[in-house]
Amino acid sequence: MRKPFIAGNWKMNKTVAEGVVLAAGLKETLAGVTDMELAVCPTATVLSAVSAALIGSNIGVGAQNMYWEASGAFTGEISPSMVKELAEYVIIGHSERRQYFGETDETVNRKLKAALAYGIKPIVCIGESLEQNKAGETVSFVGGQIRGAFADVSAEDAAKVVLAYEPIWAIGTGLTATPEDADRIIQAAIRDVLVELYDTATAEAIRVQYGGSVKPDNMAEFIVMPNIDGALVGGASLKVDSFTGIVKNAMAALNA
Ligand code: PEP
Repeated sequence: MRKPFIAGNWKMNKTVAEGVVLAAGLKETLAGVTDMELAVCPTATVLSAVSAALIGSNIGVGAQNMYWEASGAFTGEISPSMVKELAEYVIIGHSERRQYFGETDETVNRKLKAALAYGIKPIVCIGESLEQNKAGETVSFVGGQIRGAFADVSAEDAAKVVLAYEPIWAIGTGLTATPEDADRIIQAAIRDVLVELYDTATAEAIRVQYGGSVKPDNMAEFIVMPNIDGALVGGASLKVDSFTGIVKNAMAALNA
């Protein structure tokens, strides 16, 4: 029932000129993809040009971050209405933002509520560190991130959220969770917690992407898992060939 969704997180890469070239390439190579939602998330300064380059395509555009306040004295920040002018999605609480920029479950919750209030589709990232993984704390930690993110969010709004389960130790490292482990953790730490917070229908409606060193040659094994509805892709989203390969291999696996 859940429509597969693959998004590229360009992180702090690509100038306007480079971003437009990448977007134009993807517009061409992914033109035939109909049964999958697609998005790219460039840096804020590149959103405008990439949005323009992707007009008439099947690829949406997302921001990588935003602030929750409507406007005011928040130097360097971008408001929800500013994002809304240029993007359909916003990534919230990426582990790099949590690690380097002090984001917490509370700021994630505020940003999530702001995105929902402004009609921006949120992609909320959660995931455990290597130490937590080794200590067997993954389910309790990720479950806590889910409880924090969804505090005071209604079931109706919750169903609009996309989650990206990204084990931190798998991001940009070439390591991945096994598809079976990722699927099991998404069930235990995400869907079971969402059933507790809301109900089964809401928990089943929410799409969960896997993220962490997704490449063309490992996408298929993740997308076929019952709890995995797509991917959030970092490094491999920076080239037309690799992002296209990921999308095409996911489609082939789903249609097999
Ligand atoms: C990410 O940035 O969300 C990510 C998963 O990165 P990578 O695919 O490079 O591991």
